[in-house]
Amino acid sequence: MTPRLIDPFHRAITYLRVSVTDRCDFRCVYCMSENMTFLPKKELLTLEELDRLCSTFVNLGVEKLRITGGEPLVRRGIMTFFQSMSRHLESGALKELTLTTNGSQLERFADDLYAAGVRRVNVSLDTLDEDRFAAVTRWGRLPQVLRGIDAAQRAGLRVKINAVALKGFNEDELPSITRWCAERDIDLTWIEVMPMGDLGNEDRLDQYWSLKDVRARYAEEYTVTDLAERSGGPARYVRLEETGQKIGFITPLSHNFCESCNRVRVTCTGEIYMCLGQEDVADLRAPLRDHPEDDGPLRDAIEAAILRKPKGHDFDYSRQVADGQMTRHMSHTGG
Ligand code: SAM
Ligand code: SF4
Repeated sequence: MTPRLIDPFHRAITYLRVSVTDRCDFRCVYCMSENMTFLPKKELLTLEELDRLCSTFVNLGVEKLRITGGEPLVRRGIMTFFQSMSRHLESGALKELTLTTNGSQLERFADDLYAAGVRRVNVSLDTLDEDRFAAVTRWGRLPQVLRGIDAAQRAGLRVKINAVALKGFNEDELPSITRWCAERDIDLTWIEVMPMGDLGNEDRLDQYWSLKDVRARYAEEYTVTDLAERSGGPARYVRLEETGQKIGFITPLSHNFCESCNRVRVTCTGEIYMCLGQEDVADLRAPLRDHPEDDGPLRDAIEAAILRKPKGHDFDYSRQVADGQMTRHMSHTGG
């Protein structure tokens, strides 16, 4: 299909990330405060609205759909949504349907996800130590997540672990997490922590562990080869020659991927963010709700938003102040 969503910088938008809830059964310290106030239900897109929204994007040339949150698998009825989206996989319009999850509900849903056509899942996991896991997620329990990962693999889902690199927290686990992933044939990506709003937690600039340092740590133990492969997103990859593992590094704040950016994000309330690092936002919920029988206004709103996609974002950690620190949380935009 010829991509229909082309932004002013000639980038084809083929990748959509959609947050289906702002709620979560964890309270990760870098993502949420302990006492979160969640949105009233009427603010959220219904499952039917989510279906119309995603289907309209698919009709406009989106080929990859990633479902996120909050925790997507705690949204009631979400499996109906996945099952419904599978029609776009069957038609060939959608190439990939996937999700990012904390893994807590995977034991329950892995088989259903596979049946709906999901083949890969990203599971966020920062530590393999039970006490540390409880500390960083506040409400999470490691064994439940590990059972979820096992269930996902048994169901035939390819698992990728996303680990947030936190100084003084999981630095010493780099070798053990890497080995654990290798033993299970699980891909691993490290994410640099982002300054997201004021969570009233520890200062995240103190927790900041640069992925340059992470890479250097690998180089102490392995022969590290940079890979040219890019995904249109902020991930870069290296191969550890001794194990053959491919390790990803996501530096969400770096500019170096903006020119190939192929994605937009939609929040659980139907706001479209054209760039993770900028505040510009457009509302898709009104055209959805005001025209329940007609997707035309929604299509127009999406096309108009894409024409506002900026060239790149401006974020600078080197100043060591949270310049441009965003007031919205990852649980809002869906990471
Ligand atoms: N609940 C799901 C999960 O944890 O995978 C999906 C939503 S979560 C917001 C998506 C990703 O954002 C997770 O991998 C999480 O680690 C990451 N994340 C959240 N807050 C972050 C921050 N301040 N900096 C970097 N990554 C963050
Ligand atoms: Fe929940 Fe994911 Fe945020 Fe952790 S990172 S609080 S699991 S939404």
